[in-house]
Amino acid sequence: MKFKMSENISKKEWAILGGLVIVAFLSFSFGGNDGLLHIWFLDVGQGDAIFVETPSGKQVLIDGGPDETILQRLGEVMLFYDRTIDLVINTHPDADHLAGLLSVLERYRVSVIAETGMACETSLCAEWKNLKANENADLINLVLGQEIGEGDDVRFLVLHPFEDEAGKTFTKRNNGGIVLKLIFGAQSVLLTGDIEKQVENKLVSAGVNIDSDFLKIAHHGSKTSSTEEFIKKVSPLAAFIEVGRNNKYGHPTEEVINRLADFKIPYYRTDIDGTVELVLDERSYKIKRR
Ligand SMILES: [Zn+2]
Repeated sequence: MKFKMSENISKKEWAILGGLVIVAFLSFSFGGNDGLLHIWFLDVGQGDAIFVETPSGKQVLIDGGPDETILQRLGEVMLFYDRTIDLVINTHPDADHLAGLLSVLERYRVSVIAETGMACETSLCAEWKNLKANENADLINLVLGQEIGEGDDVRFLVLHPFEDEAGKTFTKRNNGGIVLKLIFGAQSVLLTGDIEKQVENKLVSAGVNIDSDFLKIAHHGSKTSSTEEFIKKVSPLAAFIEVGRNNKYGHPTEEVINRLADFKIPYYRTDIDGTVELVLDERSYKIKRR
């Protein structure tokens, strides 16, 4: 009896040890804590969802796509037991950016939620408000000039909105949206949400430093965005378009695709390439399709 018991304990110990080895292996293969910055342009159909993991494993989600597809996509890039996200940012409260974040708040514990604070009376926004009230997260509104540090020389600079939008009403929420520059060492990624020409022009004429190494194309490649002037000023090495297969809007438009071709900017699109991963060290980069 005694002997049997100690055998059981040792089996248990082996199981624990085995489990630890598997977890260590998974952490390694998922790329956490590898000294690199990972940015996934997740394939969530017609909408935006960008997941960022810093070299030491801080996690940031920018928008959640149009539905709960986001949960499946996060499951592909996060460890199965990971139920926390450090920062969730909603660029603007349109359904193709916000709806998926509701499922995210239901499944994950989020430490900080950042948004514009603009007025929104939709039923989706009402549900979002309820979920936020129960989340116990710090809530912040973003405005030009703010900087969010995530450690490891990783920071988000807020380039838009120019002024506090708390309670403000927009006929077109796209143009109240958050624009971020993600900086890691000498590299930068411009995340534009759904801003249109008006905001692109405003950024250019105000002399905001939008020059970046990588660009998330605004508004799913709609022709209402990505002006020649804006693309020229950003002058990215590569661009990413978050867009759904056979979407009813005809995104990305020929105009935008031709413009990128004219500037010889290679581009990746989630409707064709699926989820696309951009991996940065402080100087070089790699782009991977899943
Ligand atoms: Zn959108």
